[in-house]
Amino acid sequence: MFGRMKDDLQRELASIRDAGLFKEERQILTPQAADIAVRFPEDAPRQDVINFCANNYLGLSSHPKVIEAAHDALNTHGYGMSSVRFICGTQDIHKQLERKISEFLGMEDTILYAACFDANGGLFEPLLGADDAVITDQLNHASIIDGIRLCKAKRYIYKNNDMADLEAKLIEARDARYRMIATDGAFSMDGTVAQIDKICDLADRYDAVVMVDDCHCTGFMGKTGRGSAEHCGAMGRVDVITSTLGKALGGSSGGFTSGRKEIIDLLRQRSRPYLFSNTVSPVVIKASIAVIDLLSETTELRDKLEANTQRFRKGMTSAGFDIKPGEHPIVPIMLYNAKLSQSIARDLYDEGIYVIGFYFPVVGKGLARIRVQLSAGHEFSHIDRAIDAFTKVGKKHDILGKSKEEIIAVHGE
Ligand SMILES: *Cc1c(COP(=O)(O)O)cnc(C)c1O
Repeated sequence: MFGRMKDDLQRELASIRDAGLFKEERQILTPQAADIAVRFPEDAPRQDVINFCANNYLGLSSHPKVIEAAHDALNTHGYGMSSVRFICGTQDIHKQLERKISEFLGMEDTILYAACFDANGGLFEPLLGADDAVITDQLNHASIIDGIRLCKAKRYIYKNNDMADLEAKLIEARDARYRMIATDGAFSMDGTVAQIDKICDLADRYDAVVMVDDCHCTGFMGKTGRGSAEHCGAMGRVDVITSTLGKALGGSSGGFTSGRKEIIDLLRQRSRPYLFSNTVSPVVIKASIAVIDLLSETTELRDKLEANTQRFRKGMTSAGFDIKPGEHPIVPIMLYNAKLSQSIARDLYDEGIYVIGFYFPVVGKGLARIRVQLSAGHEFSHIDRAIDAFTKVGKKHDILGKSKEEIIAVHGE
């Protein structure tokens, strides 16, 4: 009977609310883009805002070519597959997309999944057993953590982006049959890009395989958008890349693993989220082919994103904000105080700028921030409006030009 469980769940939900951690969903009333309309809370009036919190890095979520390809797929390949790949569900276009992704990333082969969460969930268990070791970055994405939980390999956690600690853990794991290093290509709360070149150097020295989850890099990091490996000058050195079709590459859904041929071959035989989950819809596949074709022809969009990122980072720094330095379109505006991050986000929303404040436990204690995400869908005018709004709100809260200590002295930790 549900009765006793119901009481417990209600208590649990109340405690989440009391802790101020209850996640409310905001309704977007338009297609995903730079200019959107949002309703929040549900009975509030519609608010027109400039969106700075989507993973729509290349502005492709509502791109005319992508929409056209999706429409075309319905006509040529139908809507759904109603089958897993290995029973009756693979179409020519699925194989075509896998080839195109492999070519784009410079990898030997690619296997598609319903999501990158599934790609990570189905990666470790078929490859690693009790005699093996996974050496994993402390800040890796939840799906990597869960994927590792599903395999029997011994787990070693190294400090975020800390090469000395990674080396220490590789030495600790020297007796394992195989060592696999697992890292996010970019860490989503900080916008830090992992040091893929140095990770590959250590992998060479200690005989390890390298896995990179490039969800926050594929399509735009690196001179031609190949991702974190290109950004770090390590193309061809990474053994396995997992990534998503749900961020820069059109933003719908779907994920994939690209890598050495034998690894992908074995995943097709043994990876459970692939074997026991439905084939990705033809609509997503054809739209993704259009995206990869577009990104293979020109670097225009990633170049525009880079220019937008530079303009925003420079403008915010001159305005006196404390931002985490870097080159990634994820730009954390450090505020240190949880309440302050929430009131600034709310004030910006009233100014028509849509951003989200993050605080513990999503980021470390005393490291509250607003995370801004730039997009190639933004024009300079959007960026300048955001900097102006930030400046106005920053003045109101008296944080411009203030150091961490000064902000904490006024607002508390
Ligand atoms: C978003 C994200 C995922 C999940 O991708 P989906 O395709 O949405 O399941 C996995 N890993 C990282 C690092 C991500 O940022």
